[in-house]
Amino acid sequence: MNYSYTNDSAFAQEQDAIDFFNSYRSRFLFPQHEGKDAVYFCGNSLGLQPQSTAYLMQQELKDWATFGVEGHFRAKNPWMHYHHLFSESLSKIVGAQKEEVVACNTLSVNLHLLLISFYQPTAKRFKIIMEAGAFPSDQYAIETQVKMHHLDPQEAILELHPREGEHTLRPEDIIATIHATGNELALVLLGGVNYYTGQLFDMQSITAAAHQVGALAGYDLAHAVGNVPLALHDWKVDFACWCSYKYLNSGPGGVGGIFVHEKHGNNPATFRLAGWWGNDEKTRFKMQKGFVPQKGAASWQMSNAPVFNMVAHRASLDIYDKTSVALLRKKSLHLTGYMEYLLNLCTHLPFEIITPKNNEERGCQLSLLFKSEGKQLFEFLEKNGVIADWREPNVIRIAPVPLYNSYEDCFRFYELLMQYKVVSIN
Ligand SMILES: *Cc1c(COP(=O)(O)O)cnc(C)c1O
Repeated sequence: MNYSYTNDSAFAQEQDAIDFFNSYRSRFLFPQHEGKDAVYFCGNSLGLQPQSTAYLMQQELKDWATFGVEGHFRAKNPWMHYHHLFSESLSKIVGAQKEEVVACNTLSVNLHLLLISFYQPTAKRFKIIMEAGAFPSDQYAIETQVKMHHLDPQEAILELHPREGEHTLRPEDIIATIHATGNELALVLLGGVNYYTGQLFDMQSITAAAHQVGALAGYDLAHAVGNVPLALHDWKVDFACWCSYKYLNSGPGGVGGIFVHEKHGNNPATFRLAGWWGNDEKTRFKMQKGFVPQKGAASWQMSNAPVFNMVAHRASLDIYDKTSVALLRKKSLHLTGYMEYLLNLCTHLPFEIITPKNNEERGCQLSLLFKSEGKQLFEFLEKNGVIADWREPNVIRIAPVPLYNSYEDCFRFYELLMQYKVVSIN
């Protein structure tokens, strides 16, 4: 799709005026800089706080004070069933059946729990394909799971590298590696969107290729959930996990979420580590020996719902319930395209955008790789009220989030970049 943009503030104002999500911005609390909203481009790291979070939090504090333990049944949202409050919203966001998703635990913990179920290597089929330079938690999780099975990570883990001189993976190279690994491949585990480059993977074709060689496909959706449309069920993804504090705005350390395709989740033979909250709800309180998994993803729950953590998630999902990721995506493509257009005008700065140019291969984030100056520029931006994200050794990540970022945010950012005087060229 081709959009036409111009680099003047009137254009930005006009776009904001006709933006359907303009009114959503006021549902969020922005960090302040000199009496104005900061330019917040860090929603890919920690989403902003919805206005309603504090109010909903107060309700739970009040119910705890009023009812004590009886709040499990008498609270406005009885804590006993609290996790059910998320299934419908999450199923829409990730494109799943309600029983295929559950909000529980946290991302890295869920990744381990899911790997225990879905990485069951045999002497012949034991390899995992992942991205080179994946988020460290994912690297550690995979490495230690491999070791747990007394296998050598060097042999079992196949890392996908970009081609010489390139920054992102070519889709055809991913598929070719899957086919080349063939019947040695146990699992493909990728980020849905790479946290560093912002590359969005074609999960449907990757999953299909994995299945063709008899392997499974799972995704860490930390940077994809709430950012790009997902259809996990239809894509036949085997499992996925995510965190809720990035695009889902559910607060630091917020509760994670998982997807398990019904073909695995409803199969009692699928091995899962068990906790009492995953047991069949009808017999949970019989306190008997012998774990009976409930249907679906909910059986991967360990503990009773961390309500104070989950209430922030609820506040944020209430906002998602009023719209859809498909609608957000429409704005996102236009907004990120605008940001990219403005950045490409900053020819005095020594950076290149390493995020794919193709809309189909990215979400809202753009990653700027600096040859020099990166850190100085980043500090200049910080001083001037831009909150972005610095990743060692030389990348600034910016995420214009369609839910609350405006065209004017992008334009203010651009104006600052234009003001910046390059000090060192090497
Ligand atoms: C943010 C992120 C994490 C963080 O894991 P937590 O367990 O929530 O601390 C893990 N993996 C990826 C890919 C991420 O982007």
